[in-house]
Amino acid sequence: MYGGALESNQLLDQVARDVTKCEKCGLHFSRKLAVPGVGPADAQVMFIGEGPGFYENEQGKPFVGPAGHFLDELLAKAGLKRDKVFIGNVVKCRPPGNRDPQPDELAACKPYLETQISAINPKVIVTLGRFSMGYFITNGKISAIHGRPVWVDGRLIVPMYHPAAALHQPALRDSILGDFANLPRYLDLARTKEIKQMGETIPTHIAVTPKPDPTQAAESPSQPEDNPEQLSLF
Ligand code: URA
Ligand code: SF4
Repeated sequence: MYGGALESNQLLDQVARDVTKCEKCGLHFSRKLAVPGVGPADAQVMFIGEGPGFYENEQGKPFVGPAGHFLDELLAKAGLKRDKVFIGNVVKCRPPGNRDPQPDELAACKPYLETQISAINPKVIVTLGRFSMGYFITNGKISAIHGRPVWVDGRLIVPMYHPAAALHQPALRDSILGDFANLPRYLDLARTKEIKQMGETIPTHIAVTPKPDPTQAAESPSQPEDNPEQLSLF
């Protein structure tokens, strides 16, 4: 769909223009504004949510409602500035009533996200919620793997709970806050050349041991020492 010699910022602009007028799935019938995503082309971290909600559909921008305000809090916890990261979604138009995106909608919208990822080439991708996680990690259970980074095709993917789900559930809220507090270390890890090279050569879906999260001690048993796939990098 996209090719040629476009610079990454031009590619992102092109995706945004295409998304704005896209009619590739049924979600275009009910959307008010499509939400292509926002952030600089040289972002080192991408956050990928599920799809626009009510406020995003009104404003054409991602994560501007209550879940977005919580995401701002989480970004602050991770020492990240919103204008330095890219924030987008797996579907760019609001599913009516905030229902789950359907497989055909996810499939129709996928090339946009693919192009955004390859244009930005971020060091770390944080997935927010299970639909975004499912884009990179098949058969993962979010309650088991949230906050645990995995290398996928040489890139560090960090699955997180969705901020909207975590907002009103105290256990999930503590959990996601703890997971975001670990993000700077994962970014450092992904920046490390030696480790980056390792990420490019090792197979996908190799777990990296996160720092134990005291709030999750019971839920996050340490991995067996003799697991050959385990990289103990901390
Ligand atoms: N929830 C999402 O998944 N994405 C948004 O942009 C807003 C809320
Ligand atoms: Fe196009 Fe994606 Fe919107 Fe569907 S959700 S109409 S594929 S931009």
